[in-house]
Amino acid sequence: MSEKRLAVVTGAARGIGRAIVLELLRQGRIVAGLDIIAEQLGELESTVKEAGSTVVTKCVDITDTAAFTETLESLASEYKGIGILVNNAGITRDKLMMQMKEEDFDRVMNVNLRAAFIATTFALKSMVRNKFGRIINLSSVAAVMGQAGSSNYAASKAGLIGMTKSVAREVGKKNVTANCIAPGFIMTEMTSVLPDAVKDAAKQIIPVRRFGSVEDVARAVAFLAGDEAGYITGQVLCVDGGMAM
Ligand code: NAD
Repeated sequence: MSEKRLAVVTGAARGIGRAIVLELLRQGRIVAGLDIIAEQLGELESTVKEAGSTVVTKCVDITDTAAFTETLESLASEYKGIGILVNNAGITRDKLMMQMKEEDFDRVMNVNLRAAFIATTFALKSMVRNKFGRIINLSSVAAVMGQAGSSNYAASKAGLIGMTKSVAREVGKKNVTANCIAPGFIMTEMTSVLPDAVKDAAKQIIPVRRFGSVEDVARAVAFLAGDEAGYITGQVLCVDGGMAM
């Protein structure tokens, strides 16, 4: 049963990643949350402990390939591999294309796409060996619709979709699935920095006329992580109130 297998969630300290950790724990899974912000990871650990449960936390910069791989290695050896991998950590460096600098592009690619590649190649080894795996990548509606001012971000998230579908084709026969969740506007620190005018305009193009909650996304991730979702692979599930249909 997948409950016995380790679930690794990147970007776990806050926002959607934190909600994913809590939802997977609620389902009785063993969860490791990785993030670069030590303080908020500590807060997550205390919250989980107070609720009578346990979460493994690791403070690591996922763009530091050596440190990230070392962290994944130590987790995999302690928990006999990685069963569920949620590549959730993501950043924005928004600028219009004409003003965008190479470092804005590279930084976003490194966190959003390259780190997911590093984690996936690592996790696949034990997933294929154990004949079970669930890879869930947090893409975005920006990948399917485009987003003015976010060409680097949209490219990284579209890259995730292509990578996910390719991995799904490669390892489906090993009982390993790979899917993307593409959130629309979700209320987190990432979206709180957007100007009010952008937020108001966004609500007008969302059929349900509201932003989503982190729990809306976490429940979809938990579903795809479960045994029940074993026949779903290579998909992009938009959790967006109907925005990108
Ligand atoms: P957030 O900024 O609140 O959280 C992202 C987390 O990733 C943070 O805890 C951050 O510390 C961590 N992180 C960033 N760089 C890291 C690094 N180098 N190493 C380790 N950890 C790092 O973001 P969120 O809104 O919770 O978004 C989560 C995911 O969902 C992201 O991939 C984002 O692109 C995607 N998404 C979010 C929305 C939204 O509306 N919030 C919409 C579409 C997609």
